[in-house]
Amino acid sequence: MSFLGWVKEIVDGVESTAIGLKTTTRFLWENATDTGEHGAAMTRDYPVQPAIIPDGYRGHLFNDVDNCTLCKSCQRACPIDCISMEGELNENAKFHISRYDIDISKCIYCGLCTQVCPTECLTMTKGFEIEPANLVNKRGGKFLFRMRPEQTKVKLDMHEVERLNALTAADPSSWTEDDKAFMARVEDPETGRFLFGRYGMGFYTPEEKARVDRIRAEKKKAKEEAAAKAAAEQAAANERSAAEQAAKDAAAKAAESAEEGKA
Ligand code: SF4
Ligand code: SF4
Repeated sequence: MSFLGWVKEIVDGVESTAIGLKTTTRFLWENATDTGEHGAAMTRDYPVQPAIIPDGYRGHLFNDVDNCTLCKSCQRACPIDCISMEGELNENAKFHISRYDIDISKCIYCGLCTQVCPTECLTMTKGFEIEPANLVNKRGGKFLFRMRPEQTKVKLDMHEVERLNALTAADPSSWTEDDKAFMARVEDPETGRFLFGRYGMGFYTPEEKARVDRIRAEKKKAKEEAAAKAAAEQAAANERSAAEQAAKDAAAKAAESAEEGKA
């Protein structure tokens, strides 16, 4: 190798090292400051740094239940039957969804249920964590999931879910013997804190249920009062009109008698 060739190889080596160091330094800077397009670094110190979730990610489902029509299309579309729901009549005698559950232990995140939803109220979020503390949805419902395979045949109905929520929020020293037996049946013995059951996405918490029931009762009462007032006004109008008619009839009869008297 000539002397010039030897020098050129050294320069090339220094140049490629500088390019590599530049990329490494950029990733180091972006990692340290959590900046850069899509957080350019390939690995992230999760959960210290938040995860970067791309658009279109199929994470936990969320049902904006106020727009859910209880059509059950999602339930029918689900290939593994993990959706269940309940409804109740509202003050206008129309169905309103009161509970919407997805069994997360079965869900394969295929997204078929979201594709058939006519109101697009059922969507897939970017949520993926299953740390219970993080799983409180917008409406306050807690996400529950199964911890032990032998428990997977056990289902909780809405009242049991409500009881579970109330008891987990309360001080265990206030539990009755019956509460303790219930919790022993639903609590994970290893962690002592978690629970099996349905993955509740839209069911009412007891507080939410009480609030909705109160609003519904107020609306129903206002509607009944308005109907009673309208009926009373109509009855009074009918009475007035009958009295006017009776007065007219009496006057006509009196006039007729007077005519007959003259004749
Ligand atoms: S995403 Fe889950 S709930 Fe929806 S259809 Fe697929 S398996 Fe069923
Ligand atoms: S398809 Fe949509 S509107 Fe119909 S029940 Fe499911 S979530 Fe509700």
